[in-house]
Amino acid sequence: MLVAVTENGRFVQANELTVQAKTKLYHCPACKGAVRLKMGEVNLPYFAHVNLIECDNFAEGESAGHLTGKLAIRDYF
Ligand SMILES: [Zn+2]
Repeated sequence: MLVAVTENGRFVQANELTVQAKTKLYHCPACKGAVRLKMGEVNLPYFAHVNLIECDNFAEGESAGHLTGKLAIRDYF
């Protein structure tokens, strides 16, 4: 997922964070489960659930191309 919620209840986008944010804990906007920032050199930054849980509202495992497309659509609108 591209968006998560901070401990202060603020929405943040993965692509707006720096590598230091990888140590912080965020929450899934849908199920409120714990998520962490995943940031590498190849793929776009994204949030992934810490524990494997059922969360139908936010897809994970999306390819870099798919995530890029979602960001492009968001930026267009
Ligand atoms: Zn979730």
